[in-house]
Amino acid sequence: MRQPPIRPALGTIPTYKPGKPPAPRAGIATYKLSSNENPYPPLPSVLLAVEDTAAQLNRYPDMGASVLYEAIADRFGVPTSDLAAATGSVAVLYHLLQATCADGDEVLYAWRSFEAYPIAVGATGASGVQVPLGEGARHDLDAMAEAVTERTRVVLVCTPNNPTGPAVTEKELRRFVGRLPDDVIVVVDEAYREFVRDPDVGDGTDVYRGRGNVVVLRTFSKAYGLAGLRVGFAIAPTRLAEAIRKVSLPFGVSSIAQAAAIASLQAEDELFERVEALVGERTRVLDGLRESGWDVPDSQANFVWLALGDDTVDFAVTCDEAGIMVRPFPGDGARVSIGETEANDVLLRVAAQWRADHA
Ligand SMILES: *Cc1c(COP(=O)(O)O)cnc(C)c1O
Repeated sequence: MRQPPIRPALGTIPTYKPGKPPAPRAGIATYKLSSNENPYPPLPSVLLAVEDTAAQLNRYPDMGASVLYEAIADRFGVPTSDLAAATGSVAVLYHLLQATCADGDEVLYAWRSFEAYPIAVGATGASGVQVPLGEGARHDLDAMAEAVTERTRVVLVCTPNNPTGPAVTEKELRRFVGRLPDDVIVVVDEAYREFVRDPDVGDGTDVYRGRGNVVVLRTFSKAYGLAGLRVGFAIAPTRLAEAIRKVSLPFGVSSIAQAAAIASLQAEDELFERVEALVGERTRVLDGLRESGWDVPDSQANFVWLALGDDTVDFAVTCDEAGIMVRPFPGDGARVSIGETEANDVLLRVAAQWRADHA
């Protein structure tokens, strides 16, 4: 029987494996530490904005997201012409790649890094070129610069890197961008920027200024706690921002998502107190893990990385039984989100016991 053709490029795309929710367990509390979500519920002021907007659901959202764009432009000191919002920063990345890549092109990124990258790249027909992480599970930017070819259209720099945690310093990033041809786009994926405390790590927006090829991705999903609403954006040179907007779905970002994002920017002080508490928990978790003998890379994000190799799945099962669902990458390691204090306590307890049992 004849079948409708599907583009061959799709055959090479891995499927996205979302972090699982924990199974309910009799007698113990369970926590989801598998998707780097914010454990805090939405702020009352954000819920209020959502409720107000809900009364107008018969209307399409503001297609140009003009109020949201103005709020972001204000906050970051960039013109609205240099913004492109979509349903999560992953969607922004899809749109950017769709606007710039085709069959035969190359997109370069570190590996292991964000698992959405191979999927987003594969969907365009371009080939993904993966450059292994270097020392300390950090980006090897020298190796990445050397891997650039005539066919490279885009380089993705995930900082802090999901799932390993370290961030690229401003000096490293500037030097890297300086080494690349002007017609190669550098995407600086800063999904976890608000959790960074290393003073040597800068803002991608400082590197984007004055350049035609640097695109910064930000999201409301993590620090702002709006993962369920799907809104992220690019800060990009006008020409690239325009290209991203051109291929975006009309009315993609819902009116509720726009309103919640605007309310969140207005409530940054309150939200960033929560981020500060999570950063405190991250320090406590990193210290605790190291005290019990784990070799953990630095994390500037809201998760930690345990390089467990072949033990990864066993460790994840042990965590699950104790009430925490982590994100295993079989054969490589487990990523554990920083969650509620009690959840982090469970991780420290399980991880210490694991070390003792596997000494
Ligand atoms: C979570 C995450 C995002 C954000 O995704 P959204 O689509 O905005 O929810 C982007 N990049 C990385 C590396 C992430 O981990």
